[in-house]
Amino acid sequence: MINIQQQTLCKAGCGTPIQHIPGHRPKLYCSDRCRQRAHRGLPPTNVVTIVTNDEKQALEQRIAQLDQELAAANDLIDKLLSRKKTNNPLKRSYQDRLQRIGEKLDWPALDIHITVKPGRKAWRVFMINESNDQLIRAIIAAERAAEQQS
Ligand SMILES: [Zn+2]
Repeated sequence: MINIQQQTLCKAGCGTPIQHIPGHRPKLYCSDRCRQRAHRGLPPTNVVTIVTNDEKQALEQRIAQLDQELAAANDLIDKLLSRKKTNNPLKRSYQDRLQRIGEKLDWPALDIHITVKPGRKAWRVFMINESNDQLIRAIIAAERAAEQQS
């Protein structure tokens, strides 16, 4: 019977335990592949990350917390967007026009000089922050998109 004295891990860092058999020269690597990769200065190919239940629980809590923070941030953006309205009637009319087309088209991406990302929020941020010139370009692009959809 082989008496296993101690157990060490593969020197390449792959996480594989190596059994040291007394009377034998201690092995450093679990496999020829790990030895070769280590000699070439490469990381092991099969890194095994062992996560304890406590760590898993902590990570899940962190994810839940980040999800909540993200939802709160999105709510805040929505609130700020609805509060920040322009007093310029021309801009207001452009915004309304874009809003209507956006709703009709379900907020697609628009190809103008600067890109409006898809989604209601991206459109609204754009409508509030951009100049009238950019809004007109967006209207033209959106109306073109509307023609292509119909
Ligand atoms: Zn290894």
